[in-house]
Amino acid sequence: MTAGLDLLIRGGTVLAPDGLHALDLGIAGGKVAGLYHPGTAPAATEILDATGLHLLPGIVDIHFHVRAPAYPERGTVQSETRAAAAGGVTTLFEMPISKPCCATPAEVARRRDHFAENAVVDFGIYAAPGDLTEASRDAMLAEGAIAFKIFTTPAPPGRSDEFDGLAFPGAAEQLRALQLAAATDRPIVVHAEDAALLDHFGRLADDLDPADAATHGKSRPSVCEAVAVAQLLAMNITAQAKLHIAHVTSAETVQVLKAFAGTSDFTAETCPQYLFTTEADVARAGVYGKVNPPIRGQADQDALWRAISDGVITHVTTDHAPFSHAEKAASEGNFPAAPPGVPGIEFILPAMLDAVAQGRLGLKQAHDLICANGARRYGIYPRKGALMPGSDADITLVDLEGETVISPETLHSHARNVAHLFNGRRLRGKVARTILAGRTIFADGKIIGRIGGGRHIRPGPT
Ligand SMILES: [Zn+2]
Repeated sequence: MTAGLDLLIRGGTVLAPDGLHALDLGIAGGKVAGLYHPGTAPAATEILDATGLHLLPGIVDIHFHVRAPAYPERGTVQSETRAAAAGGVTTLFEMPISKPCCATPAEVARRRDHFAENAVVDFGIYAAPGDLTEASRDAMLAEGAIAFKIFTTPAPPGRSDEFDGLAFPGAAEQLRALQLAAATDRPIVVHAEDAALLDHFGRLADDLDPADAATHGKSRPSVCEAVAVAQLLAMNITAQAKLHIAHVTSAETVQVLKAFAGTSDFTAETCPQYLFTTEADVARAGVYGKVNPPIRGQADQDALWRAISDGVITHVTTDHAPFSHAEKAASEGNFPAAPPGVPGIEFILPAMLDAVAQGRLGLKQAHDLICANGARRYGIYPRKGALMPGSDADITLVDLEGETVISPETLHSHARNVAHLFNGRRLRGKVARTILAGRTIFADGKIIGRIGGGRHIRPGPT
């Protein structure tokens, strides 16, 4: 029996591992101390009334970019983790693209320390496999890397230092990276588009109108993604890594994932930009809607939703990738030249709650996609992703009847001025409060989380 609670949240509905229950939730020492039938909890120093609200385990976003400390004009750890708090995200995993690339033990340590000083929410740091040696792999894990990431594409022109040790267009190096990861218990995430096909279609697109949004899709059609995923999954029959396919966009790739089911331990994700927008939205948003791989048509979007209901896609992540308004604006009317990436950390949860309100899926399934499944995949469940005694008291309180309006005025991210893809959307469902380790970091529209209050997350369930 708990001696006393720091905080009791009462009157709400708790999303527990076995579903929704009207329970009071007690917190002590930053952890969930217990779940109690209404009126039966021990005494608490502070009481929070959650009548009308749902208590969800804080969202875990396993695919996030801020690239800090490089490029502060695009957003900083402070600005983007504050935005995360506003969006109900309490843990995020930062991808290794930075300047320089996070592909050495020293860089893993430097980024980890930079995040520790500045983050408002908990964070994990991805490593790129770098020189593909066991020695640097082990040293990066010793610095606390949460997982590995590679691209099957070459570095974009002029950005080789950001992708050094991360971009492996050759099959032999991809196989080596999978095998290095397989010898650990850490997942390896892949941005999968086939380099040779991208080169081919890129040349063909040189003759197309650069201002036409369709040109971007034609320069990287679905077959590029499907072929790269098929090759990776074929190699993983040999390697048997814990493979995770990033941002699946197309019906063809869903078919490939199905064809390889059961051949190795792989999972796949998609993102709100692929589930809630199509190329018609990109045409409206212009280069602000450019992202890689490209956003496709309605049939692909429908296939992604079916893949979710079939259990083929088990993760929805943000791929939050802020660029400055000036950078996007400089290439207006020029899709090939525009930087690829869109923000999403503040509205992944409201977008999924809206899908629940539309009847597309249940609340537990929606939450599993953006939280619990990721926590399990990365081996941090039930410390994260669950509300049970002993779990971190990371709690997102949501009002399912509330409304979230996406606009530069309501967003907090540095990328609020480049969120054209989602601007103007009215989503059913609203983040009322975000709690990290028992402390409120966002409430009533205000971010009150402490800079440096976020903790570095190493693998492990406790
Ligand atoms: Zn990404």
